[in-house]
Amino acid sequence: MTRVRVDLSGQGAVITGSTSGIGAALAEGLAANGCNLVLNGLGAPDAIEALRARLEDTYKVRVLYHPANMLHADEIADLIAFAHSELGRLDILVNNAGIQHVARIEDFPADKWDAILAINLTSVFHACRHAIPVMTAQGRGRIVNIASAHALAASPFKSAYVAAKHGVMGLTKTIALEVAERGVTCNTINPGYVRTPLVESQIADTARERGISEDAVVRDVMLHAQPTRRFVQYDELVGALLYLVSDDGASANGSSINVEGGWLAK
Ligand code: NAD
Repeated sequence: MTRVRVDLSGQGAVITGSTSGIGAALAEGLAANGCNLVLNGLGAPDAIEALRARLEDTYKVRVLYHPANMLHADEIADLIAFAHSELGRLDILVNNAGIQHVARIEDFPADKWDAILAINLTSVFHACRHAIPVMTAQGRGRIVNIASAHALAASPFKSAYVAAKHGVMGLTKTIALEVAERGVTCNTINPGYVRTPLVESQIADTARERGISEDAVVRDVMLHAQPTRRFVQYDELVGALLYLVSDDGASANGSSINVEGGWLAK
């Protein structure tokens, strides 16, 4: 668990896509610092309930779950309304849900394009437009969008993902300007490669597209992009999130924290 500590007692957070990977780690980081949470995401009900109960028991905070599918605007509206009514506040919104598909542009399935744009970009718009009035009324709020190094740089075969993540960066900056005088901030964290289920599943696809082995994908494609030559660790992302949601993060607005081992410095 990250050594960064911030007092979030009594605050309320929504983390989309927090049943797995980065979202689950960020949720745990917030819970460990006293924040009440609404988890969200897909998955087996038993596994989601086990995560919810573990966080609640371990950190003695309220942890709820809402099953909103990020493909559906009405369900996203319901997620935000649920968090506000159940937790009594909405201080932190982490837009993290995301999917990936790897294929060359001429073969890229149109339905995958639509789903990636909807889940990785349009859901951020819907969650923000419902959360911002609540945060504005409170006079304080923190929106953190989990974009990617691919919000600022491209890689081949990831057209929809790169387009969506660049879109998240633009949306973040626009929202930041609109909310700047309301005590609300909007920023991104741009991770490099983190060894989550999302990354595991694209190793085989990338190997096929590039005609190389899966070991070569990890060594020569993924870790080659990152000068540190290692995957980003969950705690390194939790530390960035805790800074952005803290009182000391009040002047970080419309910006991004790149946690990508130097990938974007090249
Ligand atoms: P993951 O597959 O482990 O987790 C994705 C989460 O999103 C899961 O909880 C899943 O249930 C949820 N989700 C997917 N579709 C959904 C839908 N329709 N409705 C609601 N929830 C849905 O992936 P991850 O690697 O932890 O990725 C999390 C975020 O981090 C994504 O936005 C991803 O683009 C971003 N990211 C990941 C990496 C990486 O290397 N893993 C790098 C940069 C950015």
